[in-house]
Amino acid sequence: MKTNGLKWLRVVLALLIFIPTVLFFIDVFHLLPIKWDVILHVQLVPAILDSMWGIVIVILLLTLLFGRIYCSVICPAGILQDFFSRFSAGKKKRRQRRVLKYAKPKNWLRYTILALTVGSFMLGSSALIVLLDPYSNMGRVLADLVRPALIPLNAFVVNKAFAMGIYSFLPVSASGISMVAIVVSSLFLITIAVMSLLRGRLYCNTICPVGTFLGLVSRFSLFRVVINESACTHCNVCSRSCKSQCIDSKESIIDTSRCVTCFNCLTSCTQNAIGYRFAGFSKSHKAVPTVEKTVNTRRREFLALSTTAMMTAPFAMAQSQSKKLATQQLPIMPPGAGKREHFNMRCTACHACVTQCPSNVLIPAVFDYGIMGLMQPRMYYDKGFCQPNCTICMDVCPAGALTPLTLKEKQLTQVGRVAFTLEDCVVYKNHTDCGSCSEHCPTQAVKMVDYKDGLRIPEVTPEICIGCGGCEYACPARPKAIVVHANYDQQWAKKPPKEKEKNIEVQSFGF
Ligand code: SF4
Ligand code: SF4
Ligand code: SF4
Repeated sequence: MKTNGLKWLRVVLALLIFIPTVLFFIDVFHLLPIKWDVILHVQLVPAILDSMWGIVIVILLLTLLFGRIYCSVICPAGILQDFFSRFSAGKKKRRQRRVLKYAKPKNWLRYTILALTVGSFMLGSSALIVLLDPYSNMGRVLADLVRPALIPLNAFVVNKAFAMGIYSFLPVSASGISMVAIVVSSLFLITIAVMSLLRGRLYCNTICPVGTFLGLVSRFSLFRVVINESACTHCNVCSRSCKSQCIDSKESIIDTSRCVTCFNCLTSCTQNAIGYRFAGFSKSHKAVPTVEKTVNTRRREFLALSTTAMMTAPFAMAQSQSKKLATQQLPIMPPGAGKREHFNMRCTACHACVTQCPSNVLIPAVFDYGIMGLMQPRMYYDKGFCQPNCTICMDVCPAGALTPLTLKEKQLTQVGRVAFTLEDCVVYKNHTDCGSCSEHCPTQAVKMVDYKDGLRIPEVTPEICIGCGGCEYACPARPKAIVVHANYDQQWAKKPPKEKEKNIEVQSFGF
């Protein structure tokens, strides 16, 4: 294969993963088949958290064979940086502003961040994973910045379709928009935009823990970009084409731990001195000098490890503080979350579930789960309620934070319990008929019983409530007379008595 053929192969493969991933997050019309979510399951961090070891092994083997192709083909944040890089390389003025040349690796920084991320996770906090995982950040950019911009288009199409008697388009609510999520996503977007416009893949080679981890593996990769020293004239052209700034053309060295195998350099060399070859078992390529540790490097790495130990402690403390929140007002976790600690540790806040919920029930939490659960999704019954015949959020979650349940299991999973305040109910306050809550209850955990003057009033049976929020959503009283309180961990609801089960079928959870 011609060398520039490799670059085009890489670009085509990257687009084949990037475009479906983007479409998944911004599909405001829910046009894509639900199985489209399979595209999310090739991402490294969610695969590790979900114990999808087959996928993890494939990614590691690909890295061992070919280098960091994960970063140039699979990672959506990597592809986005390539778009920015391409933009800055296009015009002469922008090219002048961005002078790419070999830069020494910032190992102290990258290994400290990797160690902090792994260390804090081991101590019980996923906060750094949430903030640094490139896939989850890209998910939030698409879900919290791009998707909301398409809501007016959704409203326009839904209204037109309704007017024409077409009811197959679901309206998307703006209730899922969170200022914190917008700020965090904007910060990430601005950071990688500036970094890639000025210094190519600087984010991947300094901050991204996934890039650093795969960089460690790719040191041993069998196929690499290598320089033929005898043909190299040290002209520096290849260094200027390298967005990873990892080609030291003066020494004819390529730092494989930072090379993202984009193949940009292959066609740059006029002497054909640079190529992508099998180099695994030979020592023909030189090692990067930084691998041979100087006293200074060793000292810096020792300092990095010791500061890591000190810095992970506050994360563990903050995590235990977030547990104290449990006794106060808890956010309701999405179905399938199971145990609260399990959910908070697994969820990377990618917001795939938020974008797919047809009922607009899921919103990004702010500090509701505590600082360690920043931006993780919670249930919110203002604009809708959880449909008992839906399992979408569990089906799409790539990180195993939500365990896929069967429909039967979902319909008995109690995410919270109903609580009724008589004094706020309009039947009691205004002496009028109501019953909206009971009409919306799929389990009849709230039913109307005789009250007085021919009126009927709600009576609740919390044990058979599944916490779907139908009653809370429908209640016209302000403050709401009927609300759902979260369970600390999700539980099984008691099965409704036989005649009530019939009710469920008749209603067919008919929302
Ligand atoms: S199960 Fe409930 S929360 Fe999850 S996607 Fe369906 S309606 Fe939304
Ligand atoms: S629960 Fe939702 S936000 Fe969290 S990892 Fe799963 S899909 Fe992403
Ligand atoms: S949350 Fe309300 S509507 Fe849903 S099962 Fe419980 S009582 Fe019924």
